[in-house]
Amino acid sequence: MRETRESSIGIVNNKRLYETTPEIQAFTGIDDAAEYFKYTNKWGDTATPIDKEGFRGIGLELLKELCEGIRWGQQAFSIGADMPMTIKCADFRGTTLGDYCDTTSEIRFRRGLKPEYAFSTAVHEMAHHADHIMGHPSGDILKAAVRKLRSDYSLKQINNMKAAIAGKYWTDPSEILAYSMDKYCLGKGNPLAAEVAEAFLRRCRQK
Ligand SMILES: [Zn+2]
Repeated sequence: MRETRESSIGIVNNKRLYETTPEIQAFTGIDDAAEYFKYTNKWGDTATPIDKEGFRGIGLELLKELCEGIRWGQQAFSIGADMPMTIKCADFRGTTLGDYCDTTSEIRFRRGLKPEYAFSTAVHEMAHHADHIMGHPSGDILKAAVRKLRSDYSLKQINNMKAAIAGKYWTDPSEILAYSMDKYCLGKGNPLAAEVAEAFLRRCRQK
């Protein structure tokens, strides 16, 4: 399992399974990030999802890791120019690392996020966005994945896998998808996470 996942993503070093992007690693500030994610929208206007003001005071290392995750999601989920409306940082209470709002198509990251969590958090929120713009295939994907695993695992074992993937959100298919993706992009997870993540990536490639 691990070999297939590593070869499908491309291993770079022992620490992570994703390749860093030279353009992103060369960023010197938020202006570069805003420029990098610029796209032409359906009305022919140039737009960027990066809310520069919302990233004020963010360290360069965190910014780069977030951008690597955003880029990874943009490519893996075939998002192209269908980017979130806004991407910014916010002050969260509790332990929230990031969130995504379907209504406003807005991604927010915790302002004090540790850089080592930034990549997978960005992939997680981009997965929510992809699920949203594709009409929430997460429900069907999860159902199919459970059906497939039922030949090897009991329902109780599968429910335990769901809990290991998404904790208290284990009954929410869109969270199972997003958590499966954020584990998968780091070569972690369990058979259900791998099944859900790979099925979603296949769906994204076909669109
Ligand atoms: Zn989530």
